[in-house]
Amino acid sequence: MSQIANEVGRRRTFAIISHPDAGKTTLTEKLLLFSGAIQLAGTVKARKSGRHATSDWMEIEKQRGISVASSVMQFDYREHVINLLDTPGHQDFSEDTYRVLTAVDSALMVIDAAKGVEEQTIKLLNVCRLRDTPIVTFMNKYDREVRDSLELLDEVENVLQIQCAPITWPIGMGKTFRGVYNILQDKVVLFDAGQESANQLVNEVIDGLNNPRLDELFPLEIQQLRNEIELVQGASHPFDLQAFLAGKQTPVFFGSAINNFGVREILNALVDWSPAPGNRHTMQRDVAPTEAKFSGFVFKIQANMDPKHRDRIAFVRVCSGQFERGMKMKHVRLNRDVSANSVVTFMAHEREQVEEAWAGDIIGIPNHGNMQIGDSFTEGEVLQFTGIPFFAPELFKAARIRNPLKIKQLHKGLQQLGEEGAVQVFKPLNGADIILGAVGVLQFEVVASRLANEYGVDAVFESTSTATARWVSFKDSKQRAEFEKALVHQLAIDAGGNLAFLATSRVNLQLTQERWPDVVFHATREHA
Ligand code: GDP
Repeated sequence: MSQIANEVGRRRTFAIISHPDAGKTTLTEKLLLFSGAIQLAGTVKARKSGRHATSDWMEIEKQRGISVASSVMQFDYREHVINLLDTPGHQDFSEDTYRVLTAVDSALMVIDAAKGVEEQTIKLLNVCRLRDTPIVTFMNKYDREVRDSLELLDEVENVLQIQCAPITWPIGMGKTFRGVYNILQDKVVLFDAGQESANQLVNEVIDGLNNPRLDELFPLEIQQLRNEIELVQGASHPFDLQAFLAGKQTPVFFGSAINNFGVREILNALVDWSPAPGNRHTMQRDVAPTEAKFSGFVFKIQANMDPKHRDRIAFVRVCSGQFERGMKMKHVRLNRDVSANSVVTFMAHEREQVEEAWAGDIIGIPNHGNMQIGDSFTEGEVLQFTGIPFFAPELFKAARIRNPLKIKQLHKGLQQLGEEGAVQVFKPLNGADIILGAVGVLQFEVVASRLANEYGVDAVFESTSTATARWVSFKDSKQRAEFEKALVHQLAIDAGGNLAFLATSRVNLQLTQERWPDVVFHATREHA
């Protein structure tokens, strides 16, 4: 096998999708622990709580004066290179969270088994579905009293509309949690509480559900477990690799992240079943990951909140070829060469900057605002990657300004921030206040601070009557003209020049859709 095919074949790039508090941070840390990337539990946690730990990643942050490293973690596991991309939650939740999912090849869905399917998980899964991304599911917190396992599978199937194939099955829960039965391998892995310190990462394994050792260990529970397994096997779908790869079925694992239980099974599933980087679409042609020439696209831009540092990092997903430090890359939109000397790569266990990257890896390019979401980089060929979506925002503010003389700067600043993807900017056709749209509240704060620091504009954001937005497309220009005439007060142009309908409520949107059955209302639009 050629070196490039070998490098691509051993890469797995994924993100964790979950609702806040389901255990994403805990699990991230355990994944790093099992891979050997970190020796001590508590490192990722410390980051989250803001306590500064002696973390390997902090080095890059210090160098750059920007917090980047925790958003991409690369580590080795079983001869594979794993890229784990963070999907910010809580108040950091933003469009970036969604767009990160366009840069991965699979996702790990973590569900708090006491709570079941929660709102943010639904949203993130719907984004995964745009590309039929394969999903591995982890039911977490079995060391606690949780909900009935069959009921949980049912909820995933009904609410998320994805078939479940249990790979393991829990034995008990909470104080009586004994471990899991691995249905595919016909063996029981025993739970051992208090492994939080993680000196010991192995659990006792008993082969065969009918092994008499199980009767010895769990005389009271074993019969019930055997019956339950029979029921589960009858009632659920057997694992089907093709259905998983098509995004139609999810293999389900049960465990307790905090006790390191079930974590190795997940890593193995990601390595054994999740896809290596595949072909990517561009406007010109499909790009294969094993092509000799380098290519990639920007899926996220992280700006520095510190006014002293105006640099930003453009996160680029490598799609083909080999990135090497110092190589010349073409920034396709600007038709300009970029020298890649200061590019950041992300290894969880090495301090040095890595010298090369392959399809599936993420590199970070520092810049001063000339890079935008969706920008492509190549070795010269004109390629524009497609499928990087903008999402109909859910939060809206009207942008006003204290000093009317600064109106030009406000427009310029908002146009650029809109193009960059920091926030969505809608200019109403009737010339009223600019409307900003976001999916996370923090986006407004970021925009206010950047307008002040970078454009010298003191903007105020006020509430607006807009409640939801949809991009609209028409069958012909006559229809568009009629629509524009009838609804001019609710139409706006976004930073990409696309027409959008700003609805005052869900009902208003629905009624408009009913009144204009031939107009198409889009909840996402692709980067133009
Ligand atoms: P995130 O918001 O999804 O990143 O969640 P965290 O990893 O911060 O976990 C949220 C809370 O759940 C924390 O208090 C964790 O200690 C706790 N937690 C995570 N995993 C487990 C688990 O397996 N069992 C129990 N009992 N608690 C857990």
